[in-house]
Amino acid sequence: MTGIVKKCPMCGGKVEGKKVDKIIDAGRDFVILEVNAGVCEHCSEKIYTKETHEKIREIRKELKYKIPELEPSGHIYMYPGKAAV
Ligand SMILES: [Zn+2]
Repeated sequence: MTGIVKKCPMCGGKVEGKKVDKIIDAGRDFVILEVNAGVCEHCSEKIYTKETHEKIREIRKELKYKIPELEPSGHIYMYPGKAAV
């Protein structure tokens, strides 16, 4: 895998390339995107490539104006009017 750092910028731990679910929020809408990211074996910090960051920004921008043709994948629930904890 290219573009992913080998060393964690947070703790210096070993970073491994993995597929992770990135939750992209745009106001009240959320999209779960499967992306390749580096995950630190030590502190679990996720490191995304420049391309992934750009893709996330693109999706966030798109979501502001329209709901793209996405498949719903479960629901996100909220406790109305109060904090859950
Ligand atoms: Zn780390």
